[in-house]
Amino acid sequence: MSGLHKDVKKRTFLGLLLAVLLFIVMAAVYLLLFARDPVASLSRNVMMVVTAALLVCAVLFLCGLFLAILSIVQNRNFKHLNWLTGKTLFLLYPLVVYCGRLLHIAQEKIQHSFIAVNNRLVANRTRQLKPGEVLLLLPHCLQNGSCAYKITRNADNCRRCGKCQVPELLELAHRKKIMMDIVSGGTLARQAILKYRPRAIVAVACERDLSSGILDSFPLPVYGVVNERPEGPCMNTRVDLALLEETFNTIFKV
Ligand code: SF4
Repeated sequence: MSGLHKDVKKRTFLGLLLAVLLFIVMAAVYLLLFARDPVASLSRNVMMVVTAALLVCAVLFLCGLFLAILSIVQNRNFKHLNWLTGKTLFLLYPLVVYCGRLLHIAQEKIQHSFIAVNNRLVANRTRQLKPGEVLLLLPHCLQNGSCAYKITRNADNCRRCGKCQVPELLELAHRKKIMMDIVSGGTLARQAILKYRPRAIVAVACERDLSSGILDSFPLPVYGVVNERPEGPCMNTRVDLALLEETFNTIFKV
Protein backbone atom coordinates (compact mmCIF):
# COMPACT_ATOMS: atom_id res chain seq x y z
CA MET A 1 0.00 0.00 0.00
CA SER A 2 3.06 2.20 -0.44
CA GLY A 3 3.50 5.25 1.79
CA LEU A 4 -0.08 6.44 1.90
CA HIS A 5 -0.65 5.95 5.62
CA LYS A 6 2.72 5.55 7.26
CA ASP A 7 3.06 9.00 8.85
CA VAL A 8 -0.23 9.11 10.74
CA LYS A 9 -0.56 7.69 14.24
CA LYS A 10 -3.54 5.35 14.32
CA ARG A 11 -2.81 4.36 17.90
CA THR A 12 -4.01 7.75 19.22
CA PHE A 13 -7.61 7.02 18.25
CA LEU A 14 -7.43 3.27 18.92
CA GLY A 15 -5.81 3.81 22.33
CA LEU A 16 -8.47 6.31 23.36
CA LEU A 17 -11.17 3.95 22.11
CA LEU A 18 -9.75 1.18 24.28
CA ALA A 19 -9.67 3.57 27.26
CA VAL A 20 -13.35 4.44 26.69
CA LEU A 21 -14.28 0.75 26.53
CA LEU A 22 -12.36 -0.03 29.72
CA PHE A 23 -14.21 2.82 31.39
CA ILE A 24 -17.55 1.33 30.27
CA VAL A 25 -16.54 -2.06 31.70
CA MET A 26 -15.49 -0.44 34.99
CA ALA A 27 -18.78 1.45 35.14
CA ALA A 28 -20.67 -1.79 34.58
CA VAL A 29 -18.72 -3.53 37.35
CA TYR A 30 -19.37 -0.60 39.67
CA LEU A 31 -23.10 -0.76 38.94
CA LEU A 32 -23.04 -4.50 39.49
CA LEU A 33 -21.57 -4.02 42.97
CA PHE A 34 -24.03 -1.21 43.69
CA ALA A 35 -26.95 -3.32 42.54
CA ARG A 36 -25.95 -6.09 44.96
CA ASP A 37 -26.06 -3.70 47.91
CA PRO A 38 -29.18 -4.60 49.97
CA VAL A 39 -29.70 -0.91 50.88
CA ALA A 40 -30.32 -0.22 47.21
CA SER A 41 -32.93 -2.95 46.83
CA LEU A 42 -35.49 -0.63 45.21
CA SER A 43 -33.24 0.13 42.29
CA ARG A 44 -31.61 -3.28 42.13
CA ASN A 45 -33.53 -4.59 39.14
CA VAL A 46 -33.02 -1.41 37.15
CA MET A 47 -29.33 -1.47 37.92
CA MET A 48 -29.03 -5.10 36.87
CA VAL A 49 -30.63 -4.36 33.52
CA VAL A 50 -28.41 -1.32 32.94
CA THR A 51 -25.33 -3.29 33.99
CA ALA A 52 -26.18 -6.20 31.71
CA ALA A 53 -26.77 -3.82 28.76
CA LEU A 54 -23.48 -2.01 29.42
CA LEU A 55 -21.56 -5.27 29.60
CA VAL A 56 -23.11 -6.61 26.39
CA CYS A 57 -22.32 -3.32 24.58
CA ALA A 58 -18.78 -3.28 25.97
CA VAL A 59 -18.14 -6.86 24.82
CA LEU A 60 -19.54 -6.14 21.34
CA PHE A 61 -17.51 -2.95 21.03
CA LEU A 62 -14.36 -4.73 22.23
CA CYS A 63 -14.95 -7.31 19.47
CA GLY A 64 -15.39 -4.44 17.00
CA LEU A 65 -12.14 -2.83 18.15
CA PHE A 66 -10.30 -6.17 17.95
CA LEU A 67 -11.59 -6.70 14.39
CA ALA A 68 -10.56 -3.18 13.37
CA ILE A 69 -7.02 -3.73 14.67
CA LEU A 70 -6.84 -7.17 13.03
CA SER A 71 -8.06 -5.73 9.73
CA ILE A 72 -5.41 -2.98 9.86
CA VAL A 73 -2.56 -5.29 10.89
CA GLN A 74 -3.40 -8.04 8.38
CA ASN A 75 -4.73 -5.84 5.56
CA ARG A 76 -7.86 -7.97 5.56
CA ASN A 77 -11.54 -7.22 5.19
CA PHE A 78 -13.98 -9.08 7.41
CA LYS A 79 -16.87 -8.61 5.03
CA HIS A 80 -19.71 -9.79 7.26
CA LEU A 81 -18.38 -7.97 10.31
CA ASN A 82 -17.87 -4.51 8.76
CA TRP A 83 -21.08 -3.34 10.37
CA LEU A 84 -19.83 -4.16 13.87
CA THR A 85 -16.44 -2.56 13.23
CA GLY A 86 -18.03 0.57 11.78
CA LYS A 87 -20.59 0.91 14.55
CA THR A 88 -17.87 0.53 17.18
CA LEU A 89 -15.76 3.33 15.71
CA PHE A 90 -18.60 5.66 14.84
CA LEU A 91 -20.83 5.25 17.91
CA LEU A 92 -17.92 5.70 20.30
CA TYR A 93 -16.28 8.55 18.35
CA PRO A 94 -17.87 11.33 20.49
CA LEU A 95 -16.74 9.60 23.69
CA VAL A 96 -13.24 9.20 22.25
CA VAL A 97 -13.06 12.94 21.48
CA TYR A 98 -14.36 13.74 24.97
CA CYS A 99 -11.83 11.40 26.56
CA GLY A 100 -9.07 13.04 24.49
CA ARG A 101 -10.19 16.45 25.69
CA LEU A 102 -9.91 15.31 29.31
CA LEU A 103 -6.38 14.13 28.55
CA HIS A 104 -5.54 17.42 26.78
CA ILE A 105 -5.02 15.76 23.40
CA ALA A 106 -5.75 18.16 20.55
CA GLN A 107 -9.01 17.39 18.76
CA GLU A 108 -7.32 17.79 15.38
CA LYS A 109 -4.81 15.09 16.32
CA ILE A 110 -7.62 12.70 17.28
CA GLN A 111 -9.49 13.49 14.05
CA HIS A 112 -6.34 12.91 12.02
CA SER A 113 -5.85 9.55 13.72
CA PHE A 114 -9.53 8.62 13.25
CA ILE A 115 -9.29 9.42 9.52
CA ALA A 116 -6.17 7.24 9.25
CA VAL A 117 -7.91 4.30 10.96
CA ASN A 118 -11.00 4.77 8.79
CA ASN A 119 -8.88 4.98 5.63
CA ARG A 120 -7.15 1.69 6.32
CA LEU A 121 -10.47 -0.04 6.87
CA VAL A 122 -11.96 1.56 3.74
CA ALA A 123 -8.88 0.58 1.73
CA ASN A 124 -9.36 -3.05 2.76
CA ARG A 125 -13.02 -2.91 1.67
CA THR A 126 -12.81 -1.17 -1.68
CA ARG A 127 -10.16 -2.89 -3.78
CA GLN A 128 -12.53 -4.30 -6.36
CA LEU A 129 -14.41 -1.13 -7.28
CA LYS A 130 -14.73 0.05 -10.86
CA PRO A 131 -13.92 3.66 -11.82
CA GLY A 132 -17.58 4.61 -12.31
CA GLU A 133 -18.40 3.56 -8.76
CA VAL A 134 -16.13 6.08 -7.03
CA LEU A 135 -17.04 9.72 -6.39
CA LEU A 136 -14.37 12.36 -5.76
CA LEU A 137 -15.88 15.03 -3.50
CA LEU A 138 -13.97 18.29 -3.31
CA PRO A 139 -14.48 21.37 -1.13
CA HIS A 140 -15.16 24.69 -2.90
CA CYS A 141 -12.36 26.35 -0.89
CA LEU A 142 -9.97 24.73 -3.38
CA GLN A 143 -11.18 27.33 -5.85
CA ASN A 144 -9.20 30.56 -5.96
CA GLY A 145 -10.90 33.09 -3.66
CA SER A 146 -11.08 35.75 -6.40
CA CYS A 147 -12.58 33.48 -9.07
CA ALA A 148 -15.92 34.73 -10.40
CA TYR A 149 -17.11 31.42 -11.84
CA LYS A 150 -19.51 29.16 -9.99
CA ILE A 151 -18.05 25.68 -10.01
CA THR A 152 -20.23 24.00 -7.39
CA ARG A 153 -22.83 21.77 -9.10
CA ASN A 154 -20.94 22.12 -12.41
CA ALA A 155 -17.16 22.03 -12.18
CA ASP A 156 -16.90 22.45 -15.96
CA ASN A 157 -17.69 26.16 -15.48
CA CYS A 158 -14.01 26.46 -14.58
CA ARG A 159 -12.18 28.47 -17.30
CA ARG A 160 -8.90 26.70 -16.51
CA CYS A 161 -7.00 29.92 -15.89
CA GLY A 162 -4.48 28.08 -13.69
CA LYS A 163 -4.92 30.14 -10.52
CA CYS A 164 -5.99 27.06 -8.56
CA GLN A 165 -5.87 23.26 -8.82
CA VAL A 166 -9.39 22.76 -10.19
CA PRO A 167 -8.18 22.13 -13.79
CA GLU A 168 -5.74 19.44 -12.61
CA LEU A 169 -8.48 17.82 -10.54
CA LEU A 170 -10.88 17.85 -13.50
CA GLU A 171 -8.18 16.27 -15.63
CA LEU A 172 -7.49 13.62 -12.99
CA ALA A 173 -11.19 12.74 -12.69
CA HIS A 174 -11.53 12.61 -16.47
CA ARG A 175 -8.43 10.46 -16.91
CA LYS A 176 -9.43 8.03 -14.16
CA LYS A 177 -13.07 8.03 -15.34
CA ILE A 178 -14.34 8.77 -11.85
CA MET A 179 -17.25 10.98 -10.90
CA MET A 180 -16.36 14.31 -9.35
CA ASP A 181 -18.24 17.11 -7.66
CA ILE A 182 -17.28 20.30 -5.86
CA VAL A 183 -19.43 21.10 -2.83
CA SER A 184 -19.73 23.96 -0.39
CA GLY A 185 -20.98 21.97 2.60
CA GLY A 186 -22.82 18.97 3.96
CA THR A 187 -26.11 19.65 2.16
CA LEU A 188 -24.52 19.75 -1.30
CA ALA A 189 -22.40 16.73 -0.40
CA ARG A 190 -25.52 14.74 0.49
CA GLN A 191 -27.16 15.86 -2.76
CA ALA A 192 -24.10 14.75 -4.73
CA ILE A 193 -24.24 11.32 -3.07
CA LEU A 194 -27.92 11.00 -3.98
CA LYS A 195 -27.22 12.15 -7.53
CA TYR A 196 -24.24 9.90 -8.29
CA ARG A 197 -25.05 6.97 -5.96
CA PRO A 198 -21.37 5.94 -5.60
CA ARG A 199 -20.22 2.77 -3.87
CA ALA A 200 -17.32 4.66 -2.30
CA ILE A 201 -16.19 8.26 -1.92
CA VAL A 202 -12.80 9.92 -1.85
CA ALA A 203 -13.31 13.18 0.01
CA VAL A 204 -10.87 16.07 0.32
CA ALA A 205 -11.41 18.43 3.29
CA CYS A 206 -10.04 19.55 6.63
CA GLU A 207 -9.87 17.10 9.56
CA ARG A 208 -13.13 18.35 11.10
CA ASP A 209 -15.22 18.15 7.91
CA LEU A 210 -13.74 14.80 6.94
CA SER A 211 -14.48 13.30 10.34
CA SER A 212 -18.10 14.49 10.33
CA GLY A 213 -18.51 13.46 6.67
CA ILE A 214 -17.18 9.96 7.37
CA LEU A 215 -19.56 9.63 10.32
CA ASP A 216 -22.58 11.04 8.43
CA SER A 217 -22.05 8.80 5.41
CA PHE A 218 -21.74 5.49 7.28
CA PRO A 219 -22.09 2.73 6.03
CA LEU A 220 -20.98 4.23 2.68
CA PRO A 221 -17.15 4.02 2.71
CA VAL A 222 -15.46 7.42 2.62
CA TYR A 223 -11.69 7.65 2.13
CA GLY A 224 -10.47 10.97 3.54
CA VAL A 225 -7.62 13.05 2.13
CA VAL A 226 -6.71 15.97 4.38
CA ASN A 227 -6.28 19.22 2.47
CA GLU A 228 -3.40 21.69 2.69
CA ARG A 229 -4.17 25.16 4.08
CA PRO A 230 -1.27 27.47 3.26
CA GLU A 231 -3.45 30.57 3.79
CA GLY A 232 -5.43 29.26 6.76
CA PRO A 233 -8.79 27.47 6.88
CA CYS A 234 -11.32 27.69 4.04
CA MET A 235 -9.24 29.99 1.81
CA ASN A 236 -7.30 28.95 -1.28
CA THR A 237 -6.74 25.46 0.05
CA ARG A 238 -4.84 22.82 -1.90
CA VAL A 239 -4.58 19.05 -2.13
CA ASP A 240 -1.57 16.84 -2.69
CA LEU A 241 -2.30 15.70 -6.26
CA ALA A 242 0.33 12.95 -6.19
CA LEU A 243 -1.23 11.52 -3.01
CA LEU A 244 -4.69 11.68 -4.57
CA GLU A 245 -3.52 9.87 -7.69
CA GLU A 246 -1.73 7.27 -5.55
CA THR A 247 -4.97 6.75 -3.64
CA PHE A 248 -6.83 5.92 -6.83
CA ASN A 249 -3.98 3.78 -8.16
CA THR A 250 -3.26 1.66 -5.13
CA ILE A 251 -6.48 1.57 -3.15
CA PHE A 252 -9.29 1.84 -5.63
CA LYS A 253 -7.29 0.58 -8.60
CA VAL A 254 -9.06 3.00 -10.91
S1 SF4 B 1 -8.73 27.57 -12.50
FE1 SF4 B 1 -10.96 27.61 -12.73
S2 SF4 B 1 -11.79 27.62 -10.65
FE2 SF4 B 1 -9.61 28.13 -10.50
S3 SF4 B 1 -9.58 30.38 -10.50
FE3 SF4 B 1 -9.32 29.72 -12.66
S4 SF4 B 1 -11.40 29.65 -13.50
FE4 SF4 B 1 -11.59 29.77 -11.27
